Amino acid sequence: MAAKVLFAPMAYSRYEASQTLPEKFTRILQKSGLAEKVNGKTVAIKMHVGDGVNYSTIPPVFVRKLVDFIKSNKGDCFITDHYVYRRHPERRGYTESNLGCPVLDNCGYFGKYYYTKEVDFKSFKHVDIAGLIHDADMMIDFSHVKGHGSCGYGGACKNIAMGCVTDRTRREIHGLEGGLVWSKDKCTYCEKCINSCNHNANSFDEEDNYMVNYHNCTLCQHCVKICPVNAITLDSHNYTDFQMGMAICTKTVLDTFEPGSVYYINVLTAITAICDCWGLTTPALVPDIGIMASDDMVAIERASLDAIKVEDLIPVGVPQGWELTGEGHLFQQLHGKDPYIQLEALEKVGLGSQDYELITIK
Ligand code: SF4
Ligand code: SF4
Repeated sequence: MAAKVLFAPMAYSRYEASQTLPEKFTRILQKSGLAEKVNGKTVAIKMHVGDGVNYSTIPPVFVRKLVDFIKSNKGDCFITDHYVYRRHPERRGYTESNLGCPVLDNCGYFGKYYYTKEVDFKSFKHVDIAGLIHDADMMIDFSHVKGHGSCGYGGACKNIAMGCVTDRTRREIHGLEGGLVWSKDKCTYCEKCINSCNHNANSFDEEDNYMVNYHNCTLCQHCVKICPVNAITLDSHNYTDFQMGMAICTKTVLDTFEPGSVYYINVLTAITAICDCWGLTTPALVPDIGIMASDDMVAIERASLDAIKVEDLIPVGVPQGWELTGEGHLFQQLHGKDPYIQLEALEKVGLGSQDYELITIK
């Protein structure tokens, strides 16, 4: 049987508040079955709090609606992400007074609160599960959908596999794609790569060679993507291993919850080419689509990807001078990675089905 995905579309027919996305989101929550599930539970709301001058993360009005819904159904909740304190979520409106619940770093203030599970997939050996995620009774995986340079696509899976673990785990997953290779011949020493690194992991040494401190580097590839002359590359492009690593990590995190204790909400607004962790917002690639919700991660990811169509492209969303390859999904044309491979990996580890039924909420 196809998994159900609730869908609140942007389309409206009258100038009425009831026709707008926040009101439709309320109706999604009422139909979601969450009211019973959250009763008496402590719920981790996992979202991406953004960074820098980013303004495309989930708007606080939706977060507040979710928090109020949980509380009105006798649940307790907190917003959580990694690097919360250093990302200054208050600059994007994510404060306890605005949202009605605390905004917490899921590995604690010092980033040292986590539980390690061992896995064995090539060089990927450790899933360090964020302590506050591990300890919660329930999780709502509340994801802003966008493109992602290394994952191809950032949605529900990425919000867990990259967002509910430590730097060590992120580095091991990214390491499945290979290390960084720098070409001195191509480099113009513009230093964009240095400025793009959120981890102070790269530098030029006294002999002007590009150096990476792999202890700090998460292999996020910001430096790879920003280099205007392609002087930094990965030494392999084995992204199917990377996608399987994401799936294994996601499954390991989700296994800490009782069955039925995780729910997925994907927000398909301000769908940009790159992830919110860049600390900036580029123009949207396609018109806003709406909000989807499901208890099946693979189904909601498939429905979200299917809704993002090449035909709807807003050209200004693509960096000037870039050309789409003309092959596959819009995100594949941008980032060279087929996002559906991630869904196949998620199916293989038993996290759901790509077979979905879309139920439109009016
Ligand atoms: S962004 Fe590229 S060209 Fe500029 S300094 Fe870094 S490696 Fe060199
Ligand atoms: S891959 Fe990411 S963390 Fe590593 S040096 Fe480049 S920008 Fe920094």
